Amino acid sequence: MPEQVPAEAPTNNHYDALVIGGGINGVAVAQAIAARGNSVLLLEKSDLAAGTSHASSKLIHGGLRYLENFEFTLVYEALRERALMLRNAPDLVKLRDFYIPVYQETRRPPWLIFCGLCLYALCDALRPSSRFRLVPRHEWARLDGLKTEGLRAVFQYRDAQTDDRLLTRAVMNSALELGATLQTGARFLNAHWQDRRFTVNYLCDEQQHTVTTGVIVNAAGPWVNEVNQHFTPAPRQLDVDLIQGTHIVVDSPLEEHFYYVESPRDGRAVFVMPWYGKTLIGTTEARFTGEADDIEALDSSVRYLLNVYQHYFPRSNTKDTPAVTRKFAGARVLPAAKDSAFKRSRETILYWQPEFTPQGPALCSIYGGKLTAWRATAEKVVKTIEPALPAASRKLSTRDILLQHPGVANEQPAVTSA
Ligand SMILES: Cc1cc2nc3c(=O)[nH]c(=O)nc-3n(C[C@H](O)[C@H](O)[C@H](O)COP(=O)(O)OP(=O)(O)OC[C@H]3O[C@@H](n4cnc5c(N)ncnc54)[C@H](O)[C@@H]3O)c2cc1C
Repeated sequence: MPEQVPAEAPTNNHYDALVIGGGINGVAVAQAIAARGNSVLLLEKSDLAAGTSHASSKLIHGGLRYLENFEFTLVYEALRERALMLRNAPDLVKLRDFYIPVYQETRRPPWLIFCGLCLYALCDALRPSSRFRLVPRHEWARLDGLKTEGLRAVFQYRDAQTDDRLLTRAVMNSALELGATLQTGARFLNAHWQDRRFTVNYLCDEQQHTVTTGVIVNAAGPWVNEVNQHFTPAPRQLDVDLIQGTHIVVDSPLEEHFYYVESPRDGRAVFVMPWYGKTLIGTTEARFTGEADDIEALDSSVRYLLNVYQHYFPRSNTKDTPAVTRKFAGARVLPAAKDSAFKRSRETILYWQPEFTPQGPALCSIYGGKLTAWRATAEKVVKTIEPALPAASRKLSTRDILLQHPGVANEQPAVTSA
């Protein structure tokens, strides 16, 4: 039996756990640790959702296309989380109608899409949200001027949309209510493991602060390995690729219809979606090799996305190219590999340090993942670090935490890059 971690009275300088990064995964872990009854400090160098978590496609979905890669567990888990969020965060996560047009030249034929939607419905346990249909021809004219030349079929199914930045804030607010502590504008500098605890230094308000903790969760997204370089002893790390994805917002509104189309150039799946009275289009995938702070929307990606939009919505060709009112980019963290990012698994990977404590891992790093799976990821993290956490009396199950809209207007922030 591993030795029990001794409980310590929380002080201003000691926390049971410390989380680095205030993206969706960091706030989710802070929520789950606080719900378990432990003290937790979250450090965010900038502001909540300043990284990848403001630059997603804003979809709370299983990921229909992941079925092509046989990622059934990922899709099943994400759809289970979608159902939970529709129940627990109805102001923040809403079901929407998605349309998949199939043309003569579409690479995925209608029967394949039909089979995919059947599997998607099964992964959603055949809940009402999993219903789909073939859209009758007489309804095509209502689809925002969608190109009908060469159109063979249109499928309609349901998936959900959120505002990633507001969702992140809402999860953090629930963590704060459970007793978590948040420091924004607080950059983690380094951590040193000695005498069964970390001494952590961070910079806030131009001053260096020091705290101690028994457990650290590295939820720094694309900065995960950069952060890991500042630990002594040096932790194990996963060799990763950063895959940059760009979105654009064009000043040409859609009705409440979401489109899932194939890029005519390379067959990649691209979403065209209503977004605060405008249209959000994304995403692209390009390997990024610089510093994570320098990720920004690429001009070539903006052109690629505009080309997809104008191909499927030719009315936008009648006047000049629609104005791009906003462009932004974020990066996925994927295990390093030679094959195309599109084909690589989107499973979240947890890396931990077995050697630090006899009780259990005192450092756990989160690699990759999905916005949709934040709660499930946090539960896995807590299960991993649990042996190293002091005993506590659980306050709530994360399944039962209701998320309130943070009550602030969001769009359109001036941010253009992650
Ligand atoms: C283009 C794109 C589209 C996507 N679309 C979807 C989608 O539609 N649906 C879906 O489910 N998933 C989607 N994803 C995946 C999802 O967005 C990410 O998995 C998720 O946002 C990752 O969150 P995170 O908290 O791990 O990282 P981040 O959101 O990047 O958070 C990391 C945080 O760490 C902070 N940080 C870094 N260094 C330090 C330091 N030294 N000290 C303190 N703080 C630090 C950063 O400021 C940042 O806020 C998409 C991803 C991409 C790239």
